[in-house]
Amino acid sequence: MAAVTPMMEQYLRIKEEHPDAILLFHLGDFYEMFFDDALLASRLLEITLTGRDGGPLGRVPMCGIPVHAAEGYIARLIEKGQRVAVCDQVEDPKTAKGVVRRAVTRVITPGTVIEGNLLDEKANSFLAALVGGGEEGWGLAVADVSTGEVNTAFLDGPRAEATLIDELSRLAPREILVPDELASRLDWSALPGPPALTVRPGESFALPAVADVLRAQFPREELERAAWARQPAMIRALGGLFAYLAATQLRPLAHLRRVRVYTPGRYMVLDAATRRNLELTRSLVDGGRRGTLLGVLDYTETAMGGRLLRGWIEQPLLDPELINERLQAVGELAADTLRLDALRPALSRIYDLERLAARVAYGTANARDMLALKASLEAVAALREAAGGLSSALALRLVEALDPCPELIGLLGRALADEPPVTIREGGLIREGYDAEVDRLRRLGREGKDWLLALEAEERERTGIRSLKVGYNRVFGYYIEVTKSNLHLVPPEYQRRQTLANAERFVTPALKEYEEQIVHARERLVECEYRLFVEIRERVLAEVPRLQRLGTTVARLDALYALAVAAVRHGYTAPRVTAGGRIFIREGRHPVVEQALGPGAFVPNDALLDDDGQRMLIITGPNMAGKSTYMRQVVLIVLMAQMGSFVPAAEAEIGVVDRIFTRIGASDDLAGGASTFMVEMRECRTIVEQATPHSLVIMDEVGRGTATFDGMSLARALLEYIHERVGAKTLFSTHYHELTALEDSLQGVMNYTTRVAEDGQNVIFLRKVVPGRANRSYGLHVARLAGLPEEVIGRAAVILATLEREQWSSGVKEAGPGARVTQLQMFIPEGEQVVLEELRRLKVDELTPLQALNRLDELQRKLKEK
Ligand code: ADP
Ligand code: MG
Repeated sequence: MAAVTPMMEQYLRIKEEHPDAILLFHLGDFYEMFFDDALLASRLLEITLTGRDGGPLGRVPMCGIPVHAAEGYIARLIEKGQRVAVCDQVEDPKTAKGVVRRAVTRVITPGTVIEGNLLDEKANSFLAALVGGGEEGWGLAVADVSTGEVNTAFLDGPRAEATLIDELSRLAPREILVPDELASRLDWSALPGPPALTVRPGESFALPAVADVLRAQFPREELERAAWARQPAMIRALGGLFAYLAATQLRPLAHLRRVRVYTPGRYMVLDAATRRNLELTRSLVDGGRRGTLLGVLDYTETAMGGRLLRGWIEQPLLDPELINERLQAVGELAADTLRLDALRPALSRIYDLERLAARVAYGTANARDMLALKASLEAVAALREAAGGLSSALALRLVEALDPCPELIGLLGRALADEPPVTIREGGLIREGYDAEVDRLRRLGREGKDWLLALEAEERERTGIRSLKVGYNRVFGYYIEVTKSNLHLVPPEYQRRQTLANAERFVTPALKEYEEQIVHARERLVECEYRLFVEIRERVLAEVPRLQRLGTTVARLDALYALAVAAVRHGYTAPRVTAGGRIFIREGRHPVVEQALGPGAFVPNDALLDDDGQRMLIITGPNMAGKSTYMRQVVLIVLMAQMGSFVPAAEAEIGVVDRIFTRIGASDDLAGGASTFMVEMRECRTIVEQATPHSLVIMDEVGRGTATFDGMSLARALLEYIHERVGAKTLFSTHYHELTALEDSLQGVMNYTTRVAEDGQNVIFLRKVVPGRANRSYGLHVARLAGLPEEVIGRAAVILATLEREQWSSGVKEAGPGARVTQLQMFIPEGEQVVLEELRRLKVDELTPLQALNRLDELQRKLKEK
């Protein structure tokens, strides 16, 4: 029996170490896949499945992708949830003895992607690791390998697990690493979209192992100094994360050495439902940025600023001092539109420094990346100039930290050619005059060509063959070509190499010798340029921490710039942010709806919430009158203020809130069809469990998802509970007008209603929110506006009239807290209700006896029919 080929043996050995990844095996110009990998990849990538003879293994399924196009294919495999191990030739096949040595150079997983076409430039791509649970608390570590950002947090206390889930849903990691014992313990369903969970053995998060990993990644001083290095849960989370990176990235990761320790408690917490409901960064309609707060505020010019602004929206601050620092900077920028105009072109020329630095650290940055870096640093210098004279504390700090790294600008300017190719293996990278050897080799190449031309002329002269040509092909190298008719003139020292149909090709010793030199010179040139380029890249690598600091600084300036532009464009004002408990908004607007409606169309509204008699606002009013819009605008204005943005209002005083909760009525909840009553109740549970007296809650038509009396009872019980036990500031819209009675019995409740004007059969929505209660729902008017047939509306009017009378007679309208209501009246069959209604409406004094008799007969027949 034939043996397995040595190459196949090599393949099997390597594949054994990567059972859970698709192995791409570098073979010539292709990455080949074999066995099950081939079956899977050919299906996922829709490429042809072939096979090759595997000796004793039989026919081995196989498929391949061209090396030069691998990035795109890998992207698709990752998108489809696969992991990909890239196995490269690690020695030159030309000089290899036997099978070319191969090794896995990188394992690409959903959370470790750095390739541009797989990344959203204005969003982070996080890899997270968690450890702990139970008594000792949780450790969370999060890294974006494409930008170099590393964050870690320690969470403990009774709410740690809920906070952790909120953090994960905010960060939306592409991949989450968990020790095996945790994988099934957490409720992953609370996260938006299932995360790619990578379960790792518990030991890889355990102390002796992670200590080695961390010592390899961080300088000693960092390990001695850093706060995280004294906290076991953070050590283990970071250790598990870096152990995974070491195992998959297989190279030093110099850009991942700055760890930020943060405390989720320092930021406003927004649970997943709230972030979704408020459409902060993703719209409920299509998941895009249009129609979101981010869409309204994002005037950032750089990718880094874009990512940061998104982070600010998702993590508003709690400390009024920090908030006011941002607000002052925004105010200073917004006050000078000339300066804003000057900052824009400087910012817009700065490339993604964080991701550039990551590519430098990965050793994948090419000469064009380096030129982009140079252009960015030059733009930073321009930015510093344009931002000169800013005097608010934060702006001043940032401008001073703008370090354009002049030596790097100088080096890159001297060293790099103007238009280098994408690849760094074909020369053309280094500028004339930077390196004597490169210049000499280039000259040699040029002179070689001249020499050949001269040779051609000389030989024509000498031999008298006027059609003699010097040419080149890949097989024979340089040759002299003579047509058949001139063969008799060929001198004896010509050596024949090739015979064509009507010509022969010759070489001479002198030609061969010169060819050596030229080809050699070209190879040496390419080699030399490559070496120099790598040297330059190493010098940049040494500056990665500096570039990362610069990236952060630019990002913050850009985010402040964007908020200033938004403030100017949309006519926002500076909020007064305090540690007090009052929220007062004069002439507030909904930032997103206002944009959608166009200039002047939005009706501004006031709002006042305090810790006393205005703690809970119950808002009634007809459908379509603007209740939901009003409540959302209040929380959005609070959120904007706390992220340091100006707000759409004539005036605003914002006492910071620790959390915002939302419960948006089932029928408003467009997300993913999850509009069940269960979801509604679960969100209510989150609120009553987690809200504090410093929280802000909006509840939009709670109870709509179930039967009327069920819903009304629940809504009221919830209101009473929040009022008595939780104490959070609450805006509560409802179509149960009965709930307005709570104003009389609960001290903190105030009724508000959206005003409408009536004009005959029509209602006009004024969209003004005023103190008071709505007395009718106007649902039928809306139905008429929507063009429902008049017959349906007439019939509905009849039913409504009946129901209202029944309710009235049962005393529901007067029910105070605790009153019992009876549902019996609801159960008179509808047909009979109609007969009753007709009977009631009968104008007896206008009928003749005969007419009365006929009507009586008709009504009786109707009753019998039912
Ligand atoms: P409700 O919740 O009372 O049914 P919505 O808040 O959904 O009403 O508002 C219905 C529509 O009215 C919105 O789509 C919006 O276009 C418009 N609207 C709401 N508030 C205002 C306002 N203050 N000014 C102008 N138009 C508004
Ligand atoms: Mg509504």
